[in-house]
Amino acid sequence: MNEKTEIDADVNTEIKTGKVGFVSLGCPKALVDSERILTKLRSDGYEISPDYAGADVVVVNTCGFIDSAKEESLDAIKEAMVENGRVIVTGCLGVEEKAIREVAPNVLAISGPHQYETVVAQVHDAAPIAHNPHRDLTPPEGIKLTPRHFAYIKISEGCNHACKFCIIPSFRGPLKSRPVRAVLREAEKLVEAGTQELLIISQDTSAYGLDLKHAPETIKKGSWKGREVRAHMTDLSDALGDLGVWVRLHYVYPYPHVDAVIPLMAEGKILPYLDIPFQHASPKVLKAMKRPANEHKVLERIKRWREIVPELVIRSTFIVGFPGETEEDFTYLLDWLAEARLDRVGAFKYEAVAGAAANDLPDQVPEDIKQERYARFMEVSQRISAEKLTERIGLEMAVIIDHVTEEGAVGRTYADAPEIDGKVYLESASYLSPGEMVMALITASDAYDLHGEVLLEGDSDDDWDW
Ligand code: SF4
Repeated sequence: MNEKTEIDADVNTEIKTGKVGFVSLGCPKALVDSERILTKLRSDGYEISPDYAGADVVVVNTCGFIDSAKEESLDAIKEAMVENGRVIVTGCLGVEEKAIREVAPNVLAISGPHQYETVVAQVHDAAPIAHNPHRDLTPPEGIKLTPRHFAYIKISEGCNHACKFCIIPSFRGPLKSRPVRAVLREAEKLVEAGTQELLIISQDTSAYGLDLKHAPETIKKGSWKGREVRAHMTDLSDALGDLGVWVRLHYVYPYPHVDAVIPLMAEGKILPYLDIPFQHASPKVLKAMKRPANEHKVLERIKRWREIVPELVIRSTFIVGFPGETEEDFTYLLDWLAEARLDRVGAFKYEAVAGAAANDLPDQVPEDIKQERYARFMEVSQRISAEKLTERIGLEMAVIIDHVTEEGAVGRTYADAPEIDGKVYLESASYLSPGEMVMALITASDAYDLHGEVLLEGDSDDDWDW
């Protein structure tokens, strides 16, 4: 019960990106909270410091089950105060604020057990870091309270590529995949705790397991007991699909083997949703960027994927104004986008990132041209989004509720990832709760969002469209 858990940490102390020290005490439930806090912090761009000295702030997840556990927790808080001085306390002992303040009056914040969203927000307050779209895996809005019904699972760290605009490999190192059993165990625990949507993240999800030579592991316990699962995106997706919750793949590069996950979508094992950061379409610009999986036949593959799974939704991000991008390259990108008709698209104007190789490239694009291209790009992507959403009017779709207001409920369909994509507004549905899954009739749409009404039992023809 009082076992002190060592949190695995790899960190480059030279990069000032926000480092958090972590002491995890107590039972497996507290450990799950620690893992969730750490997962969210890592996906928000924080590094985990292996020692007190390198940390901007230290989180102590306490145990308060028996007196000796309380003592151990209070000792850990005192030690963190002496060694670092900026300490956030959470966990079971958090309900005894007075006892904590007696030994450490200046701790920054105190919360009770299972309050991981609060702790993450407190870390952001205590050690804020700037959002960097080329580095972070979640948008700045991601620091707001994350509902319990969805969870990010990071399947690997680092990256083997060398995209010229990106500095991630320089401080996160090469691809380091988590063992498949660890990913599956985490997913299983999350689902047991009520998570209904698993968001698979990494720097390069399609490369998962490459460093492990995609070796199979025989899973020793849990849902897949006795089953051999390879450390490979396809096998992992297949296994996660057994959990019966939404599984959404992010940061997928269109390597040929991505074709193999499309049938899993057709079977309903994982969501027909792919987040592919294309960044550009012009072969010349992609080559200058040194992008992976930069092949010419992507449009044909998207067409084939849609033939197999017509409801497939593709989200992507693009960079406009990369050094050397000509008007011809940019027009190529716009034409490509119009043909690809991607569902969800974000764009960034190219910005120099300290340490990135692209900073030294010739033919940097002037700011006013970047702005003009960005506006033209957004106009096309917005038109496509609006057209595609109009096609959803009249459909009956499953909607997961994210939050509830006085006016109604706000949720998402399979086509939208939390925080980064669109929403479904359900009027007069304030009686719903976050995490509930309902059927809704889509009644209207705008550029990015849908509007609908909840179908009560008997209203639906049971032949819903997704
Ligand atoms: S694939 Fe490119 S952009 Fe993505 S992390 Fe690796 S180097 Fe950076």
